[in-house]
Amino acid sequence: MAHFPTGTGLPPWRAAVLTLFPEMFPGPLGVSLVGQALDAGLWSLATHQIRDFGIGRHRAVDDTPAGGGAGMVMRPDVIAAAIDRVRETDPDLPLLYMSPRGVPLTQERVRELSDGAGAIILAGRFEGVDERVIAARGAREVSIGDYVLSGGELAAMVLIDACVRLVPGVLGADESLVHESFEDGLLEYPQYTKPREWEGRATPEVLMSGDHKKIAEWRRAEAERITRERRPDLLHRKP
Ligand code: SAM
Repeated sequence: MAHFPTGTGLPPWRAAVLTLFPEMFPGPLGVSLVGQALDAGLWSLATHQIRDFGIGRHRAVDDTPAGGGAGMVMRPDVIAAAIDRVRETDPDLPLLYMSPRGVPLTQERVRELSDGAGAIILAGRFEGVDERVIAARGAREVSIGDYVLSGGELAAMVLIDACVRLVPGVLGADESLVHESFEDGLLEYPQYTKPREWEGRATPEVLMSGDHKKIAEWRRAEAERITRERRPDLLHRKP
């Protein structure tokens, strides 16, 4: 299933997802700004059913773990056949395998990926995929956090959403990206809107002053304070 408008050619950022559950897509990627950008051809989404490459009459995609133990493991021959098919049309895209063992997905990695042409993303199920296919096809393992999901589809959606919103033209104002959490190694400063006073809580006076220099200084100080309190590890992270 491919989602891009006819006549526009290949859009600038391409996501190709290998999954046993293509019906989960576009799901949340089909709404709001990211969904509008999909409809507008600013990025494309193609899903590939892994079972189409399964073995035998039952199109088996998994088997018991070598050495014993619980669960099932996705077969390397099946996964490789699916990857090779996608690479026939998209040979240059990086191959990512969503996995709790992978490198953590950070805003920096998201930016690197969104600067590229897109990604082929393998969503695992069961106990994951046979180690040999990860090595043989040079897949980079990427984790979205230190917890275990039942499948890689939600993780793939998280990665795609984070990348696509950085694709030029997807967000309305470029400004909204500049001061976001993580963009300058800090969490974002607190945000306020109307009404000026709500349930006895006032908007900080400085934000109503109209003094842009003072506002910028206050925001920077607040961003540093919040980062120090909540995520001191970010302050020691190398750029
Ligand atoms: N047995 C695996 C382990 O302990 O590392 C977990 C397998 S998990 C039940 C099934 C699939 O969900 C994985 O192959 C992976 O694609 C996906 N997945 C689960 N947690 C993830 C995470 N934190 N980040 C990215 N993908 C994840």
